[in-house]
Amino acid sequence: MKVAIAGAGIGGLAAACLMHDTGHDVTVFDKFDTPRPVGSGLVIQPVGQAVLHRIGARTAAVNQGAPIHRMSGQNERGRHVLDVSYGIKNDGVFGLGIHRSSLFDVLFDAVKSRDIPVIASFEVAQRDDQQLIAQGGQRSERFDLIIDALGAGSTLSPLKAKPLPFGAVWGTVDWPDTELPHDQLSQHYTAARHMIGVMPCGMGRAAVFWSLPRDAHQAFRTMGLDAWKKQAVDMWPAFAPFAAQITNLDQLTFAAYSHGSLSRMWSTGMAHIGDAAHRASPQLGQGANMALLDAAALSHACTLAQGNDALKLYRTMRWRHIAVYQIMSRVFTPMYQSQSPLPPMIRDTVLFPLSRAPLVPRILTHLVRGDLIRPLGRIRRR
Ligand SMILES: Cc1cc2nc3c(=O)[nH]c(=O)nc-3n(C[C@H](O)[C@H](O)[C@H](O)COP(=O)(O)OP(=O)(O)OC[C@H]3O[C@@H](n4cnc5c(N)ncnc54)[C@H](O)[C@@H]3O)c2cc1C
Repeated sequence: MKVAIAGAGIGGLAAACLMHDTGHDVTVFDKFDTPRPVGSGLVIQPVGQAVLHRIGARTAAVNQGAPIHRMSGQNERGRHVLDVSYGIKNDGVFGLGIHRSSLFDVLFDAVKSRDIPVIASFEVAQRDDQQLIAQGGQRSERFDLIIDALGAGSTLSPLKAKPLPFGAVWGTVDWPDTELPHDQLSQHYTAARHMIGVMPCGMGRAAVFWSLPRDAHQAFRTMGLDAWKKQAVDMWPAFAPFAAQITNLDQLTFAAYSHGSLSRMWSTGMAHIGDAAHRASPQLGQGANMALLDAAALSHACTLAQGNDALKLYRTMRWRHIAVYQIMSRVFTPMYQSQSPLPPMIRDTVLFPLSRAPLVPRILTHLVRGDLIRPLGRIRRR
């Protein structure tokens, strides 16, 4: 098939490689003059790493990232209220903390090494008769399949996601001289009104984040850098050497979160993948993995079936996994980001003690690894 990939983000670049490798003629479109990533760090879970492995990009990603073996959170009383491990240390299974720019570079190198054409400065406005139409009216050639990987602001997706009440500011600093474990994602909470976190993301860097109500970004900026740093360090003294590197509020970028998914991730001649198909808060650290898994499922479905049958199969492979993680994200997010005292109370007094009960740690490990249920469903060869 002649395949257009709209969007050179995580899902789009992965889909480009995988569709190319299964024999399709692929072209990638993005609005950037030079395709480039935005944002800070993210975690690629073992299921996402498996997709990177198929592309031949996992080793490069691991070299640029940092292994994360544990996710840990403490409340305002200094008590652990989140403690999830990836399993046995040194068994090769870990979350990969990586800066978005490093992941982008790794995936973009994989696209370039396959000589896949990337059309830059093409801001997709809509599609018409299997052509992409840019803002300004420029038309692409005609494609058999269009893959919508335009992310959360997709102009091709019918998804109307629900804005979540919280987002966060994110920044990147150097990993300082600190006793904080460098293989751990660490968070501190005041109830669920404030959350501060530090995530190793490789190459001696750390992603830092501070959660904010959706409408509070301006108030945060008005409060000023020094007042915020004092609040953050009072809340978590070990954050001081990270905070010291933030000398300007412009180092912190606000990201709003939303939630929702398409019940039908395709229409004739077009498939939606990644954030264009489903969105959730990053609390479970699954969004990029979902985009990678969608790319893997779609490319595989296209080897097993053709036309709409392939797109139906793609949806069949993915919908259960997406639904389970959407539900989990919906349940867990308010425990960590909410103005109400009730969800964090449940987190501290019910969920955390429950998480220590026999078998539950194992379930939580699979939840963060991304394989609580089969990510690609049961595939039957036709
Ligand atoms: C602050 C934050 C932290 C996160 N942390 C994690 C984490 O730890 N782990 C995790 O797995 N996920 C995380 N996520 C989620 C993850 O980043 C997304 O789910 C993932 O990037 C989705 O990939 P995608 O390919 O669908 O979209 P994107 O990666 O957003 O790519 C979309 C691409 O489309 C291009 N584009 C957009 N509109 C147009 C247009 N009209 N025309 C042409 N090109 C266009 C963009 O330039 C971009 O290149 C986080 C998200 C946020 C906001």
